[in-house]
Amino acid sequence: MNIIFFGAPGAGKGTQAEIVSQKLNIPTISTGAIIRAAIKAGTDMGKSAQSYIEKGNLVPDEVVIGIIKDRLGEDDCRKGFILDGFPRTIPQAEALDRMGIKIDVVLELFVPDDEIVTRMSGRRVCPKCGATYHTKFNPSTAGENCDKCGDVLSIRKDDAPEVVKSRLVVYHNETEPLKEYYGNKGLVRTVVGQEKLEDTTKLTLEALGI
Ligand code: ADP
Ligand code: ADP
Ligand code: ZN
Repeated sequence: MNIIFFGAPGAGKGTQAEIVSQKLNIPTISTGAIIRAAIKAGTDMGKSAQSYIEKGNLVPDEVVIGIIKDRLGEDDCRKGFILDGFPRTIPQAEALDRMGIKIDVVLELFVPDDEIVTRMSGRRVCPKCGATYHTKFNPSTAGENCDKCGDVLSIRKDDAPEVVKSRLVVYHNETEPLKEYYGNKGLVRTVVGQEKLEDTTKLTLEALGI
């Protein structure tokens, strides 16, 4: 199955994608994670993307389209994949179509803006392995350290409330039109994000029919 996880920043895409990925044994491809890894490694792509990410703006289409083209060409994507955070603009979706990629489901996670802003202040991420936690809703049992690898958890710079607000504006302007784009193809299934992670997971699995 080729799945797109769609929704506002902080709606819970990464969290649910990880669970579905393990269940279906298919990879999750997160453009945000790939870009953050490139920034950390100091590559040319990372350097060119850094200022966009920090301001909460989208990285240019040609950069992310290039990332996705390379990644989808790898062997582990043959039996299916989950896209988390791509496409985020109409030209990105059109590029995916031009690559001949067939999408089976666009799973929308819906969470209202005010809830997102509060929720994002509790997000913690592992700088080493990329695992995501929440201080209240999904805490690491190792406290300030990552359950999976032990590294000290950190707060993403772009999760600061002012940046989250501008990311939401970008989302409504640039990304939300994709709902109609995929809606016209009959591919969108919407799940309303619940306060409890496991409740959202249950609805997500039901919506995907798995
Ligand atoms: P979130 O999961 O909170 O929405 P992501 O990790 O998906 O955050 O993305 C973080 C940032 O990476 C975005 O704000 C944007 O700057 C950049 N980015 C990620 N994916 C894309 C994309 N498909 N197009 C443009 N920019 C992207
Ligand atoms: P996205 O990938 O859409 O940006 P994440 O999966 O990183 O979103 O989730 C954003 C934050 O909200 C994280 O701190 C995560 O632990 C937390 N979270 C995810 N799903 C839920 C939920 N259903 N209820 C409460 N918090 C959640
Ligand atoms: Zn870790």
